[in-house]
Amino acid sequence: MHGQLRRDGHTPSRRSVIVATTHMRVIVIGAGIGGLAAKLTLRRCGIDVEVFEQASELREVGAGIQISPNASRILHRLGLEEPMRRLGVRPQAVVFRRWDDGRELARQPLADAAERDFGAPYYHFHRADLLDILSAAVPRRVLHLDHRCVGLSQHNDRVEVQFHNGASADADVVVGADGIHSTVRNAVMGPESARFSGHVAYRGLVPADRVAHLGVEVAAIAWWGPGHHFVHYYVGAGGRYHNWVAVTPGEWRVESWTAKGEVSDALREFEGWHPQVRAIIGAVETTNRWALYDRELLPRWTVGRVTLMGDAAHPMLPYMAQGAVQSIEDAAVLAKCLERADSQDVSAALLRYEQTRKPRASRCQEGSRRNGIMYHLADGEDQRKRDANLASATTAPLPQNAWLYGHDVEAEFSR
Ligand SMILES: Cc1cc2nc3c(=O)[nH]c(=O)nc-3n(C[C@H](O)[C@H](O)[C@H](O)COP(=O)(O)OP(=O)(O)OC[C@H]3O[C@@H](n4cnc5c(N)ncnc54)[C@H](O)[C@@H]3O)c2cc1C
Repeated sequence: MHGQLRRDGHTPSRRSVIVATTHMRVIVIGAGIGGLAAKLTLRRCGIDVEVFEQASELREVGAGIQISPNASRILHRLGLEEPMRRLGVRPQAVVFRRWDDGRELARQPLADAAERDFGAPYYHFHRADLLDILSAAVPRRVLHLDHRCVGLSQHNDRVEVQFHNGASADADVVVGADGIHSTVRNAVMGPESARFSGHVAYRGLVPADRVAHLGVEVAAIAWWGPGHHFVHYYVGAGGRYHNWVAVTPGEWRVESWTAKGEVSDALREFEGWHPQVRAIIGAVETTNRWALYDRELLPRWTVGRVTLMGDAAHPMLPYMAQGAVQSIEDAAVLAKCLERADSQDVSAALLRYEQTRKPRASRCQEGSRRNGIMYHLADGEDQRKRDANLASATTAPLPQNAWLYGHDVEAEFSR
């Protein structure tokens, strides 16, 4: 660690104050995928970083996550390619199907085609594996668990963060990577409610051999139907598990990866759907459900020496599979912007970070909302138009994805 942890004996109400000794000191609040990625990208740029996480241990839920080439290239450059190739699944394609008869509406080759066209793999991970890959690369001494940020105060030359346990810490820059209900965002921009989408996601994870008889291909498969959609794919080393997410309308508003849902309720929502969808849902013994929220675009992400990233800055519905991916892009750009910044005047660097990232992240937020409408069209004229458009697209990885998957956010900084 470049900085030093010092006990501050002069302030009895505070247990510790971090005093750093290097040119730039950054505190990241939140050790989710975004916060851990930021730790790695900032450290690579020689910046002194400490991460504070409210949970007493790092844990991810039993669910899958898709990481597209625009983020996997960043993680590979951080030296994570070996464990990613070992623990990730490379889907052969993205396949879109009709809800009732299973007719294939479109197919985009991935695997080798994604690597050729976009320069890096498209992966499916078990979330716990991805978190392990990231956290294994972060030295434990700079990761402070059981530290919930409860407030912060900005000074001319630094920001001070307060934690629930009485500890405090200070740095040149504080990054809120603390998720959709960000305390950091509330502290610097005032409270604002997330927007309930009217949709609920049920999710399930089953040992792959339990669905082997269905002969499901190694692909990201999305079934679209009226008001609902269903996505499934393999995760875990060698594709050990089959992961699914079933999105339904609903008024249940609890956001929790651990809240239980009833398998029978999920099956009822998918009454009349293709037998394969119902067989995959029915293969689990338990299911979890998660109310889906996003937020209006924030006018800005930065106030003084404090900025935001990931879901704290741009929470999005999961309909482009870009929430975590965009947080990894944030981490890469933030580090490049701070690399040569003056710790006394970080405003230009944070402004550049925000200006670089906001258009892309906002496009994903808005695109995800639009996909929520497009995926769920009732059968009829609009749905037929949608299906015809999809069918007429090229069979190479769709060119319209090049802006997203093919873009290298670090490239402009190497010129
Ligand atoms: C059903 C579903 C499917 C999804 N699928 C995909 C996908 O395939 N691909 C993809 O890229 N994205 C996907 N996403 C989105 C993705 O999960 C999120 O965008 C991503 O996890 C956000 O990461 P983050 O690090 O910004 O925030 P989070 O993962 O929310 O992490 C925030 C961290 O901050 C901590 N924290 C919170 N408050 C405090 C505090 N006050 N003090 C200290 N620590 C605090 C939390 O404990 C947590 O560890 C999906 C989302 C859903 C709901």
